[in-house]
Amino acid sequence: MEEGRVVDVFSLDDRSLPGHIRQTHDVSGRYIVPGIINAHGHVGIARGLETGEAVRTAENIRSQLVLYARYGVTSVVSLDEPLVAFDVRNNQDPHHPGKARLYLSGPVLSPSTPEEAVRDVNDLLEHNPDWMKIRVDDQLGRTTKMSPNVYDAVIRTARKHNTPVASHMVTLEDAKELLRRGTGLLAHSVRDRPVDDELISLMREREVCITPTLTRELSVFVYAGRPDFFDDPFFLKYADPDVLEQLQKPEVQQRYTGRSADYYREALPLAIENMMVLHRAGIPVAMGTDSGPPARFQGYFEHLEMEMMQDAGMQPEEVLASATRLAARCMNLEDSGTLKSGSLADFLVLDQSPLEDIRNLRSINAVFIGGKHLVGSQVLDRP
Ligand SMILES: [Zn+2]
Repeated sequence: MEEGRVVDVFSLDDRSLPGHIRQTHDVSGRYIVPGIINAHGHVGIARGLETGEAVRTAENIRSQLVLYARYGVTSVVSLDEPLVAFDVRNNQDPHHPGKARLYLSGPVLSPSTPEEAVRDVNDLLEHNPDWMKIRVDDQLGRTTKMSPNVYDAVIRTARKHNTPVASHMVTLEDAKELLRRGTGLLAHSVRDRPVDDELISLMREREVCITPTLTRELSVFVYAGRPDFFDDPFFLKYADPDVLEQLQKPEVQQRYTGRSADYYREALPLAIENMMVLHRAGIPVAMGTDSGPPARFQGYFEHLEMEMMQDAGMQPEEVLASATRLAARCMNLEDSGTLKSGSLADFLVLDQSPLEDIRNLRSINAVFIGGKHLVGSQVLDRP
């Protein structure tokens, strides 16, 4: 590695180390995988269970990116966050960020007319977002859904400036219409009906990926009781004990029951089945979690998402690809997601093989970002 990038990848059985190498890390007997990419997260919208202006700061965003990195998530695409996140992205050291790399959409766009759509997109373009984000969802009847002529104007205007648009959607029909109008990503699962051939053809023709965000569904109802992962030492390593205590209070647990919790709990098996149908049809599924809002634990939820993908029937190798190579390709992250000459040197050193069980991604020995060992993770240097 040099200047934060991979120079070469080879086996010491085939070649010996060039003489000018200044530093080596002995990782024999361990496993190296590309850093995890979260294709759909959020930064700076919560701190613990707190939301509001006080949490929408650059400092909070930077500490969340450190948290993601500690869990092995080395890149995050945030799809809706405060404008101040642009400062964090613009000031990150491309060679040695020292935390997860941030890509972002800026605040979600919610124009009500095509004219407003054009204006909002042009305003946001001044910040040079990597993506843009819209919501096409009536939130179980609580709001008015954005109409096709409005999102058409958003997508058309953004695409003129080579900026893809990620769409929050729930229903099959909305997913199809968004694809016809040129969305660049389905940012959640189809949750109302089984996906069909028409959807598959549209996604294939337009080369659009999906981020299932299964843990988003989980987070809406799982705290009505005490989730099993509250006993996972890997979760507890960086989880805030105050937040865990809060989440186990009866009055807080109560908030995770009711109509919305019921809807998404009942929709989860269908979301999982739809993910598998798309995956088997060869549609790229990019690992994404929607982590970042209260109680969607950044860094840990990515591991939980991958466990759910494996439990749904994906092979560990397929889940790993979804969280690395495919996520990079789907989200246009150049030089991430694979380790070869010229790639960003973002990778994890693991004690156990993730190809046997994706949960072995939790056996993190060290995290490297831009070729540098993340402070706080272990590393075995030769004396
Ligand atoms: Zn989201």
